[in-house]
Parts: sequence; C-alpha cells; structure tokens
Amino acid sequence: MTISKIEAPKALIPEDRLQARIEELAAEIERDYAQTEKLIAIGVLKGSVFFMVDLLKRLSIPVAVDFFQTSSYGDSTEPGEVRIKKDVDISIRGADVLLIEDIVDTGFTLRTILDLLRFRGARSVKLCALLDKKARRQAEVPIDYCGFEIDDHFVIGYGLDYAGLYRNLPYVGVYEGET
Ligand code: 5GP
Repeated sequence: MTISKIEAPKALIPEDRLQARIEELAAEIERDYAQTEKLIAIGVLKGSVFFMVDLLKRLSIPVAVDFFQTSSYGDSTEPGEVRIKKDVDISIRGADVLLIEDIVDTGFTLRTILDLLRFRGARSVKLCALLDKKARRQAEVPIDYCGFEIDDHFVIGYGLDYAGLYRNLPYVGVYEGET
C-alpha cells in the first residue's frame, strides 16, 4: 500500500518560535499558579492536544488534566450554538481551572465552555490559547495567556487540522487549498 506524503504548507509560525513562546507561557503560568491548591488543566479536543502536552511538560507544579470536546450544531439556525460532545470526568468545583485551546476564532466555543465552568463552581477560570484570530471574534472571550495573534488565515498544523489531517505538523502553516 502506498501512502502519498502530504504537501508541506508554508510555515506561518515555525517550530522554534512556537516552542520558545510556549516556554515563556509556561514560566508565566508557573508563577501565577505557584500558590494554588488544585489546578486543573482542561484541553479542548482535538486541536489543543499538541500545544497542551508541550506546555504542561514544562510545569513543575502539580496539575490534573482533563478534556472537553465540542462541535457546532450542523443544522442549527442559531449562530454560535455549541454542543458538548465529551464532558470532563472530574469535578471542577473549587478548583482553579486553566482552559487550553488551540485557536480562538469567533469565540463561541470558548464562551460556552467558560460559562459552563463558572456555573459549575470553579474557583477561578483562565484561558490559555495558542492562537488568537481576533478579526473574526463575535463573542467576547478574555485570553489570559495568548501565544500569537494571527491574521484571518485558515491555519493547520501543531494540532490544527484540515479534514482531519495535518495535525501532526510540528509548526503552524497556512492552508492554501479550498476550504
Ligand atoms: P470558535 O468557536 O472560536 O469560532 O472556533 C474555535 C474552533 O474552530 C477551534 O478550536 C478550531 O477547531 C476551529 N478553527 C477556527 N479557526 C481555525 C483555523 O484557522 N484552522 C483550523 N484548523 N481550525 C480552526
């Protein structure tokens, strides 16, 4: 069986810049949560996984790990309606939650999750996002730790996919085909 190699897209953020920025974010997070008693890092599947692993590996404070998975309602007439496909397994009541996301685009996904976490009684909720596509924002979401602000490109790599592929690229690139 032959598997054709995927064409490598142009790098928007090369691997060394990603890793250097993640190092800085980790140092900031480590400082801010030095006194916390119960820190839970929650990633949003599947895109945040690569970023989350590299970030959390750099922390020396104890941290629990869990995941949400979301999707937009395909047939919804309500823009921004987000469905929770996979919920977290652990209780977040009283915990300091660090929500980790690959990219904030319209902001609807994170707005929904942030509201849910607060409703469930988290002691604090902060957001760490690798990429911020600010120009596309429709729902307000404060990003406490932001990797990079980017222009309105459709990006792939380092967790981000196009049609399920490209997540394993070690850098962030711009997808140049039809989306
Ligand atoms: P939001 O709810 O902020 O509009 O959407 C966030 C989600 O949309 C991200 O977690 C990601 O899955 C997807 N997304 C938004 N922009 C891009 C992009 O440029 N590339 C890829 N691969 N996914 C994106």
